[in-house]
Amino acid sequence: MPELPEVEVTRQSFANRIAGAVIRELRLGKPLRWPLGVAPQNLCGQHVLRVRRRGKYLLLDLDEGLLLLHLGMSGSLNFAPQQPAPGSHDHMDLLTDRGTLRLHDPRRFGAVVWAPAEHSAQAQKLLGHLGVEPLDGGFEAGAFHQALRQRSASIKQVLLAGDIVVGVGNIYASEALFMAGIRPTLAANKISRPRAERLHAAIIDVLSRAVRQGGSSLRDFVSAEGKTGYFQLEAAVYGRTGQPCRVCGTPIRSIVQGQRTTFYCPTCQKN
Ligand SMILES: [Zn+2]
Repeated sequence: MPELPEVEVTRQSFANRIAGAVIRELRLGKPLRWPLGVAPQNLCGQHVLRVRRRGKYLLLDLDEGLLLLHLGMSGSLNFAPQQPAPGSHDHMDLLTDRGTLRLHDPRRFGAVVWAPAEHSAQAQKLLGHLGVEPLDGGFEAGAFHQALRQRSASIKQVLLAGDIVVGVGNIYASEALFMAGIRPTLAANKISRPRAERLHAAIIDVLSRAVRQGGSSLRDFVSAEGKTGYFQLEAAVYGRTGQPCRVCGTPIRSIVQGQRTTFYCPTCQKN
């Protein structure tokens, strides 16, 4: 599943090239997760002013309203001057005078939704529950700690819920908790201020490293045919069950929390 770093790298891959382009046509294939919410021909002639990201949504600001794009479980976007004829898994072509933005999404959990404004009900239905962005100035350690103090669920599940801070998916939650030395099962409200500060720094570090590494492997990511492989993050714990911890040598353990596998070092990560 594309996570925040993949979505951010996708944004960076075409944002500058499409900014200012004039929409000629929006062609939709098989139904995606939600209906578009506007007649496609209403978009013709509008400019794509800029491409922003909010959580795992890409926001294409138009002259009137915005398009919200989500990659779902298996989606990828590619912007190119010329695209080959759409294949059976290509469900959106946004044709502009600069090129065509294509959504390839074999499992069709992705979304292309138009909304009249970011604060509109249509957009807030998708964006309204999202927590702060981890990679801009709005993510602050003190506020993060205060928010954790209101939650009795395990810290791993609180991070995955995304309503305190967005974009900390399964891989990045495991890795950040390892870096901060926090056991994933610990109740969020049991985390002290210094440990919350370490976790705050670890979240920023692991996500920004993934964006940087994604930038260097961008071609592989966007050209992947139906594959949405993660960036080649040098994982400390994720996917390493039974292998020695890179810090202390203890075998890495895995457990299931909320139907997602969590990886941790029982020695380095404390309750
Ligand atoms: Zn260890």
